[in-house]
Amino acid sequence: MVPSPSTATSPTDVPRNEPRGLRRAHPGALGEADGAVPDGTTVFDDEIPGVGNLDPALLGALRQAATDAAYDGVEFFVDSGWRSPEYQEQLLQKAILKYGSEAEAARWVATPNTSAHVSGEAVDIGRSDAAAWLSEHGAEYGLCQIYSNEPWHYELRPEAIDHGCPPPYADATHDPRTQD
Ligand SMILES: [Zn+2]
Repeated sequence: MVPSPSTATSPTDVPRNEPRGLRRAHPGALGEADGAVPDGTTVFDDEIPGVGNLDPALLGALRQAATDAAYDGVEFFVDSGWRSPEYQEQLLQKAILKYGSEAEAARWVATPNTSAHVSGEAVDIGRSDAAAWLSEHGAEYGLCQIYSNEPWHYELRPEAIDHGCPPPYADATHDPRTQD
């Protein structure tokens, strides 16, 4: 589904804890309205567009799981959720610089046209204890790890509740959705 722009965006909607490197490298860095999330954002912070623009079914499953994980002393943080196409493109360009080639970057960051983050259907969960909790229990909520190289990246696969999660792709280049 296509997420609608949040109408609850506050006028003080400026990046608070954006990584310093991003801001230096890109003076016109994109902020919260494009999907950047401040440190400490949880799956319950739907006033933050990166969370509020997620697919409602994915967000509902995440909140159920987070509520249950809290009984185990584990808190879910959102490192990244919904992203605008512009923000996705910025992340892709950064990845190309970091990894040295488009081919290598494609293993980690999808294009704006193919990213499940842009469609609001993917979330990167932190911290490592939360990712580990989801690795063990996520299928019960339809929450599945999609890529072997990204233990933090989760998407909704409702059929997993009955049948378990499908085997993950080695990385995004093996995902048919990224072949554009
Ligand atoms: Zn991701």
